[in-house]
Amino acid sequence: MIPNDFPSYRGKMEYFCLGCQERFDIGALHYTCPKCGGVFLLEDDWFDSLAENPPVYWKSLFDKRAASKNTPLRGIFRFYELMAPILEPQDIVYLGEGNTPIIEASPALSKILGVPMAFKNDGQNPSASFKDRGMACAFSYLKHLVRANGWDQVLTVCASTGDTSAAAALYAAYVGPPITSVVILPQGKVTPQQLAQPLGSGAVVLEVPGVFDDCMKVVEHLADNYRVALLNSKNAWRILGQESYAFEVAQWYDWDTYRKAVFVPIGNAGNVTAVMSGFLKLKRLGIIPSLPRIFGVQSAHADPVYRYYAQDPAGRSFEPVKVQPSAAQAAMIGNPVSFPRVRHFAEQYEKIGGPGSFQVVQVEEQAIVEGMLLANRHGHISCTQGGECVAGLLRARELGLIEPSETAILDATAHSLKFIGFQDMYFNDAFPAEYGVKADKSLVNKPELVITADEKERLSPEEYTVAAAEKVVARLGLAGK
Ligand SMILES: *Cc1c(COP(=O)(O)O)cnc(C)c1O
Ligand SMILES: [Zn+2]
Repeated sequence: MIPNDFPSYRGKMEYFCLGCQERFDIGALHYTCPKCGGVFLLEDDWFDSLAENPPVYWKSLFDKRAASKNTPLRGIFRFYELMAPILEPQDIVYLGEGNTPIIEASPALSKILGVPMAFKNDGQNPSASFKDRGMACAFSYLKHLVRANGWDQVLTVCASTGDTSAAAALYAAYVGPPITSVVILPQGKVTPQQLAQPLGSGAVVLEVPGVFDDCMKVVEHLADNYRVALLNSKNAWRILGQESYAFEVAQWYDWDTYRKAVFVPIGNAGNVTAVMSGFLKLKRLGIIPSLPRIFGVQSAHADPVYRYYAQDPAGRSFEPVKVQPSAAQAAMIGNPVSFPRVRHFAEQYEKIGGPGSFQVVQVEEQAIVEGMLLANRHGHISCTQGGECVAGLLRARELGLIEPSETAILDATAHSLKFIGFQDMYFNDAFPAEYGVKADKSLVNKPELVITADEKERLSPEEYTVAAAEKVVARLGLAGK
């Protein structure tokens, strides 16, 4: 349905290269800068004209759209003017992404963590991760290009730690021809659930031995030499869609971001970039009075961004790391493509938010898995990367970086079920040695067989029911009525 209240504002969007500072027209599909190979941001040259409307105008507009039944404005494009105000309503792909719930930590969990905490459950997106936010934007832009250019074939390609490919394949399957999807995965390094997703969506699934960083190199080679549309987060349209996460956080708290701290796991560093960029936009229009603090979290097994910011600001240099196996597998990346964006936004962020408004903490694998188990035992649906955020919050507490008067908002980036194999590994104390994770008995949970198949064979159906029930009674120590 095309709403008749679709916004009339159209921006003047351009690619802006963080390498050579050059600007390029968005009429062409650029993955990286054609001049210097740098990464792009997408900027609306007329953004500041939005400030002609006061903050209260934007707040009430976005609040009104939150109740809209008009699908182009229902998901991430509720914030249309702040994201991609060049799209027409017929371009916008809506599969129910965004608008994910923010769930306060259970009282018992809050007590353990020592600060008020809430998860934003981005696993409740259509393909069960936050990647849908970026894909909805990237595919809407692709549809716009197809319409404008009359293209009859668009082959989308991405390398993935699992969730990017699930999202890309889902959106491609929905949009259909002329758009088709190919995903390139590190063999054996995505979970069976994640592998099932692009297969189910009908994408061509290609595997490469190695880790994500190896797949990324293959995909970059394709982008440099062949006609493909790359959907990795180097694609600036994805970053734009993912800014909606920040907008939604602010909106949920009635645009009051004072004493809030947002925790985000860092892998390829697209998401943390988008979150910072989103809050900066809100601040620029006065929609939020102050920037919430941002805590990036990295595993000690894949921590190049942490290592960069741990150095003396005067002489920092970025070095990719060779990753070790990590339960936060979706963030197991040694050479994040969005690192230049992180540096760019972190600098702006600290200029406005002050020192400490952007930080990166490092956590151990054991703490990541146990962070997830702890959360889920308290009624949450955290994946391992959500667990990484829990571990990051505990680490920040330990280091005295966060105070009990602050509210921590943790990104549960995917649904727990996508990464359930890591829970199995923990419960069976079967983590391969490289992970360095040992099961603590108090957190282990396993099914218990109450009666054997042999006994079932021997007994009549009636006897069997009673015998099984008696075993349950004995196991639970039930009292009679
Ligand atoms: C992609 C992903 C991440 C890492 O996000 P980046 O943007 O690559 O830093 C974290 N968690 C999940 C579940 C993901 O799919
Ligand atoms: Zn450039």
